[in-house]
Amino acid sequence: MKLNRNFKNLKDNYLFAEIDRRVKAYTAEFPQSDIISLGIGDVTLPLSAKTIDACKSAAVDMSTRGGFRGYGPYDGYPFLKNAIVDYYKQHKVELHADEVFVTDGAKNGIGNFLDLFDADNTVLIPDPVYPAYVDANVLAGHKIIYADATKENGFLAMPPKRGKADIIYLCSPNNPTGAAYTAEQLKAWVDFALDCGAVILYDAAYEAFIETKGIAHSIFEVSGARECAVEFCSFSKMSGFTGVRCGWIVIPMESPLNRMWLHRQAIKFNGTSYVVQRMAESALRGGYEDTKKMVAAYKANAKLITAKLDALGIEYVGGVNAPYVWFYCGVDSWEFFDYLLKRARIVCTPGSGFGNNGNGWIRLTAFNTEERTREALIRFESFWKDFRTVADKKFTRV
Ligand code: PLP
Repeated sequence: MKLNRNFKNLKDNYLFAEIDRRVKAYTAEFPQSDIISLGIGDVTLPLSAKTIDACKSAAVDMSTRGGFRGYGPYDGYPFLKNAIVDYYKQHKVELHADEVFVTDGAKNGIGNFLDLFDADNTVLIPDPVYPAYVDANVLAGHKIIYADATKENGFLAMPPKRGKADIIYLCSPNNPTGAAYTAEQLKAWVDFALDCGAVILYDAAYEAFIETKGIAHSIFEVSGARECAVEFCSFSKMSGFTGVRCGWIVIPMESPLNRMWLHRQAIKFNGTSYVVQRMAESALRGGYEDTKKMVAAYKANAKLITAKLDALGIEYVGGVNAPYVWFYCGVDSWEFFDYLLKRARIVCTPGSGFGNNGNGWIRLTAFNTEERTREALIRFESFWKDFRTVADKKFTRV
């Protein structure tokens, strides 16, 4: 037996495992401490009543002779695929149902999609970015190059002036920075990809959080994208499905990847469960108002966070079209993490965990409850005043 040799190229400390380790070490020492997490990427609100109604009625279907379903289609049931096609119409994107593939979540889709590519590919990934892209490509043995996302470009990496790539990852609205591309900015990426003959793997997991006019909801709003892009999306954050598991991929019919993905799914996947797909359908149809309310609740938390950062004069991006706020702490991100935990009992996510350009930056999320977010921000205010007085003496400046 020969093991996948690429495993040894993965970083030892997965970001969230390291955070967990540090929080556990702290609570072992101070078991009574009331820790608030503004680091979580998981949702906290329960599923809506309409989602649960859809779940119950699908479960009843399964209990009847006429309604029972066994294995479903590899690419999802038409009722959900059509709901997704209709969802895109609000942003004037016309899709065919055969271009929509239901998955059991965006992460699985993004990772599994690499089955379609040869090992001999150069992959361009923004830095900083959602760590799963890098790790999945390390495992696949791909050569990885990075596109810088920095304060200067508003944490929106743009195509390199020289060089080329075969596979390009874009995430908008972005995890971790909360920054989001306009259709015009995406056009530059589409042109670059068409020039290189590359594919863009576009992660729109936070699309539902967009509120600013001009920000693209889908890469397929951009001309030329059908010739070079694939889009991944998820019910996780828009409808609270992180534990339910459902997402989708859009692959244009004219791309060879469309047939290849169907074939791949037929080999390795037996479909997302019927009950889950009925729940997802409800999130886009009868329960869509609840989906919007859930997103609005998290966005209200994001507003609380950005209002506090504004009041304290802290530099940040995000928080408007995304549940993430990315602020500048000016010192080594992990040192800041430890100090914030120790002094304010708040967990954040160190920006350096998302890439080299993230050092000196911190990600806060809007996924905690309103009450806990408010409490965290009260603590944060007094913490920040103290931190400013000691920052130069105690910390490694970035
Ligand atoms: N893509 C991005 C950018 C994410 O931040 C996440 C989860 O945090 C995912 C994908 C995973 O989504 P899912 O829960 O659908 O697997």
